[in-house]
Amino acid sequence: MTKTDLGIYVHIPFCVRKCDYCDFVSMVGSPDEQAYYIRVLKKEIRSFEALGNLYLVRTVFFGGGTPSITDVSQLERIMEQLKEQYEFAEDAEITIECNPGTLTEEKLVRYKEMGINRLSIGLQSTHNEELKVLGRIHSYEDFLESYRLARKVGFTNINVDLMTALPGQSVEAWEDVLRTVVALAPEHISAYSLSIEEGTPFYERYGSTKGRLLLPKESEDRQMYRLTKEILGEAGYRRYEISNYAKKGKECRHNITYWNGGEYVGFGLGASSYLGGKRFSNPRDKQEYWEFARNAYHHYKELTPQDQKATMEEFMFLGLRMMDGISMREFEEKFHVPFTEVYGTPVRRMVTQGYLEEDGNRLRFTDKGIDVSNQLLVEFLL
Ligand code: SF4
Repeated sequence: MTKTDLGIYVHIPFCVRKCDYCDFVSMVGSPDEQAYYIRVLKKEIRSFEALGNLYLVRTVFFGGGTPSITDVSQLERIMEQLKEQYEFAEDAEITIECNPGTLTEEKLVRYKEMGINRLSIGLQSTHNEELKVLGRIHSYEDFLESYRLARKVGFTNINVDLMTALPGQSVEAWEDVLRTVVALAPEHISAYSLSIEEGTPFYERYGSTKGRLLLPKESEDRQMYRLTKEILGEAGYRRYEISNYAKKGKECRHNITYWNGGEYVGFGLGASSYLGGKRFSNPRDKQEYWEFARNAYHHYKELTPQDQKATMEEFMFLGLRMMDGISMREFEEKFHVPFTEVYGTPVRRMVTQGYLEEDGNRLRFTDKGIDVSNQLLVEFLL
């Protein structure tokens, strides 16, 4: 029997300190708490044993949190268990998220030995004053040291995470960040705009009408966005998703699985999955997760697959994030209904207004469309 491709996400929620803007499932945890978490996580992974006969693992992503603060032997045990339970593709992409200041040469060597072949380093800014505002634990110099070690150990696929539209950040300052990072030639760069989330210290500071005046204006945000595409494009990075840029062949295969509607299973606190037509998320609360984890597979089996309408909407929402857009032919093959019957009206309007463009059987946002993509995507709700 041919196995189906699978991505595996493993959530490690621990961080040295909580950043002021962060609303991810992350926390500070003692070594004992971390060890307990890993034990529960392994139980959850074990409960999905039956999937091993059905799926071939193409990608693994250790995300967080800051997986690189976890004792490497714990990660090694998780990896061993995954390899025991699943067949891995020979060229499987295996990523770990790391933060500067939490890496050592020994750790990096052991990551390589356990099969990790891609690093995603959370730099956010090359300006130390901006890192301080964000509440990050590291300096740009810490990043440079981590990056140097990673290259020395032989990592040839590195992503650098950056953040735009920071409090007090000018367009010129952002340009400097971009040019500084480009000079280091990582294989992949992600650049997301800062988002102010309720319940964070940043929301207290910048969530009000008065607070928002301290953030770059919408027009400056757009300018930064355009500058990113321009500078990275000149340096040989292709924008393949709204906020992601890569050198040829270095696109993040794990994230592409999400956007292309591929199957993935997420293990750990708050992790999400899309498996067997079912979309679900683990509890975000620790106590609830402890209870849930050992019977996670049973919970999954009890769920009903999402309906066709929701799957069609996702096909559009996720696929249009990619610069290659969606294939109308693929839509028809998947859902057995003419594309125009479902989305003809909004698509015709957006093409006429210059927000969408057709290329053969593909449909994608134009630059004008990307600028207002959040508003436009609502039109694909059925
Ligand atoms: S390092 Fe990342 S996950 Fe951890 S607190 Fe900061 S933003 Fe959140």
